[in-house]
Amino acid sequence: MTRVAFLGLGAIGAPMASHLSQPPFDLTVWNRTNAKAQNLAREHGVAAAATPAEAAREAEVVITCLPSSREVGEVLAGPDGILNGLAPNAILIDCTSGDPSASREFAANLASRKASFMDAPVSGGVAGAKAGTLTVMCGGDAAVLERARPVLEAFGKKIVLCGPVGSGHAVKAVSNALLAVHVWSLAEALAALKRLGIGADIALDVINGSAGRSNASQNLFPERVLTRAFPRTFRLALLDKDIGIATKLAADAGTPIPLIDLAAKLIHEAHLELGEEADHVEAAKVVESRAGVVIE
Ligand code: NDP
Repeated sequence: MTRVAFLGLGAIGAPMASHLSQPPFDLTVWNRTNAKAQNLAREHGVAAAATPAEAAREAEVVITCLPSSREVGEVLAGPDGILNGLAPNAILIDCTSGDPSASREFAANLASRKASFMDAPVSGGVAGAKAGTLTVMCGGDAAVLERARPVLEAFGKKIVLCGPVGSGHAVKAVSNALLAVHVWSLAEALAALKRLGIGADIALDVINGSAGRSNASQNLFPERVLTRAFPRTFRLALLDKDIGIATKLAADAGTPIPLIDLAAKLIHEAHLELGEEADHVEAAKVVESRAGVVIE
């Protein structure tokens, strides 16, 4: 399956799409803000479509990478939507970190048109997308995954079938709930030690040689918080969405997750305080201002 359409050229979508610009793939891109699609098309010598329907028309595989399932629903529907161009037997791969129940509805709709759906959210960040080393969490049929595997391998290194449609989105939401807990709890820990007169550099040196270490302590905080660089790679608003999906999944299943519920409340407050464009690691700034210290 080499004719691919990629819709959604945001912070992570653009570097993912660029890996599909080489043979054997024949790539068409679409983005809501058309200039981004035109720029990527010019840079990589691929086609840019004017509408989602046009992008999907010739494609064997259509990939969406949008903020949430709400936007996926929007680009599927309407006269210019994907469904109006999608060929029978095509596969829609949704790399959005989305909602399992919405995905099951999309899958049923596509099945009625003899097309297939697979949720395939990713982890590894913008750096992993640029390097082509993302982890891809798939929800769908094993046979659909095998047909789509060469496309996923263009940007993914570890590809895991998590279960039926929606399972990839469930694993992604829970994984990002852990990310939220790690970022918030590490900011609290370093703020508390700072108030005791112990600097974050010494604290992280010890934590990273101890059992409390995490990607936040080993990479995110040394590179982004202590340096005060706070690059914007993954919006806090999107982390808020992800942990919200995780808490709803657990509530629907009757599973008590009080620690993650509290983290969701704190992340939501930070999102409201810092706005739509803040990076997820900037949540540490809210912890700092509440504690009256700066972790530097
Ligand atoms: P961005 O906010 O950087 O980009 C969002 C993209 O969606 C843009 O292309 C934007 O278009 C488009 N878009 C927004 N609203 C609409 C709409 N109503 N209709 C059509 N297109 C729309 O997000 P990311 O690229 O960071 O994230 C994309 C997905 O990947 C999210 O689900 C996120 O949770 C997930 N993810 C992100 C990671 C990261 O490190 N950034 C890591 C792992 C997963 P426009 O250019 O016009 O604004």
